[in-house]
Amino acid sequence: METRLQRAAHLLDVPHLVVFTGAGMSKDSGLDTFRDADGVWSRNAPEDYASPEGFRRNPRAVWRWYLERREQILAAEPNAGHKAVAALEQLLPRVTVITQNIDGLHQRAGSRRVLELHGSVHRYKCSKNCRGVSTLTPTPELDQTEPLPCPYCGALTRPDVVWFGELLPAEVWKAAVREILACEAVLVIGTSGQVEPAASLVWYARGRGKSLVEINPAPTLINDIAEVVLPGTAAEMTPALLAALAALHAAD
Ligand code: NAD
Ligand code: ZN
Repeated sequence: METRLQRAAHLLDVPHLVVFTGAGMSKDSGLDTFRDADGVWSRNAPEDYASPEGFRRNPRAVWRWYLERREQILAAEPNAGHKAVAALEQLLPRVTVITQNIDGLHQRAGSRRVLELHGSVHRYKCSKNCRGVSTLTPTPELDQTEPLPCPYCGALTRPDVVWFGELLPAEVWKAAVREILACEAVLVIGTSGQVEPAASLVWYARGRGKSLVEINPAPTLINDIAEVVLPGTAAEMTPALLAALAALHAAD
């Protein structure tokens, strides 16, 4: 009889796979999720640190909070889950990662096609968005304890991440929708499915008949529409799934 892992591997053995990830993907790298009981929002109010109003009220506090998060992220390493996602590229013709994470760990693990829906802590931008979406790369000079002025217009610089109440970067969103429409299967890892519009990509995919497999140690809103749920962490389940997929290919 087919095991759950084997069934998941069969469903994901497609020409074009999308891997959709959330904060749980990086939990095994020591980075906290947001909504879990021990998550970031249990200690900090989102409206203070992740909203344009919070930044206007206290730009320094927000800037420092992100500096600290970026330091934690730079000190963290991609975990076995990120590495297994990157290794899927060796087994399947096209793999696109669509992530809600801002930590850049997928790229560090070697994934080549990554769409960052919520931006990145590794980029800064002008808080007035002068010059469209032009971004700044952090340098020791910019990494001061308070935000420096934008070199073009003098407004404050800020992390290039998406805050509550803000739109997702249009080009990235369009590319993500294109990938969802073009793929045959979606592997969802470590997201609660509560953050819109990101989560709606998973429902679009299911509505259009794409296969759906989910890895998460806890129940989520996506459980009901997933064809196979692999209950476990990203670092344990993703390598197991990769091995099942490799075994499938070896048997061919
Ligand atoms: P969330 O906090 O809402 O949900 C986290 C999910 O991860 C939960 O379903 C939880 O059961 C699951 N999880 C916990 N440990 C896990 C593990 N070891 N392996 C696999 N799954 C595990 O996070 P979300 O759904 O990503 O919410 C989206 C928002 O959180 C986004 O805006 C994102 O930008 C932001 N975020 C990013 C980071 C990061 O970049 N590392 C960290 C925290 C939050
Ligand atoms: Zn500017």
